[in-house]
Amino acid sequence: MAEDGRKIYINGQLVDRSEATISVFDHGFLYGDGVFEGIRVYSGRIFKLDAHLARLFRSAKAILLSVPMSPETLRAAVMEAVKANGLMDAYIRLIVSRGVGDLGLDPLRCSHPSVIIIVQEISIYPPEVYARGLDLASVVIRRPAPDALNPAMKTLNYLNNILAKIEGNQRGVPEVLMLNREGWVVEGTADNFFLVKDGVLLTPPTYVGILNGITRQVVIELARELGHPVSEMNVTLFDVYTADEAFLTGTAAEIVPAVSCDGRTIGSGQPGPITHQLTERFRTYARGEGVVAVDSLTART
Ligand code: PMP
Repeated sequence: MAEDGRKIYINGQLVDRSEATISVFDHGFLYGDGVFEGIRVYSGRIFKLDAHLARLFRSAKAILLSVPMSPETLRAAVMEAVKANGLMDAYIRLIVSRGVGDLGLDPLRCSHPSVIIIVQEISIYPPEVYARGLDLASVVIRRPAPDALNPAMKTLNYLNNILAKIEGNQRGVPEVLMLNREGWVVEGTADNFFLVKDGVLLTPPTYVGILNGITRQVVIELARELGHPVSEMNVTLFDVYTADEAFLTGTAAEIVPAVSCDGRTIGSGQPGPITHQLTERFRTYARGEGVVAVDSLTART
């Protein structure tokens, strides 16, 4: 690969992309044993870094993975990696894997967790998707129950989501809705889900088995500030089909409108007014207005 000056942080070192390699015996590779975060940089400022670090540490704790750095040191490493890449708008992938072990499953054989930070240009849906909205399909594969592999943990094991993504590809839709075993709508492959019905925002509660998205939490806050009631309650596909508006939220996608599901038009078939209003509000907030919530950083020194 041609060198582009990009640096990747691996275990305390900033190395060129071509040298950024890990062992084939890393249990992150062998078993998906590890945790990660996807974080945005807007105009040289890292969005909700502390909330992402807190979630990473919670995911790690839940899988009994000891992050080999304090939150403060890891925070400084993320900043360093962003600065080293000189990107004002970027996507950060922060990974902590179980580290190098042997071919057995036992994490006790992995003595040093690996910490990797990749910073690169953000790739998002094209503008027409935001203007027109996307079509969704519900998929056959179910999200794991919280007592099997809790979706609240952002682990490196994304095969469940990948299988859902494959179903979406086969059905020709860019994102899907996943259900849990009980048939409640839970989330997309990499996004949380909201619908609007009679002026009220509805979104699945965390206990049904979702990743509690940072974007989801901000959207709930902003919606309430704008005077829209938000209810975290169980949602069925019937509720989706008969909603006035629907949208997905995630770090990369921000807020993306959904205008149909399983061939049923949602609302008017266009992104709705509340979705529009929230999208604008979120963009302003994320790009610097909510200064208290945004962690200051000058990416170029
Ligand atoms: N659900 C899943 C399964 C995800 O992977 C993600 C993150 N891409 C989200 C929801 C959205 O979370 P966040 O807003 O923190 O990016």
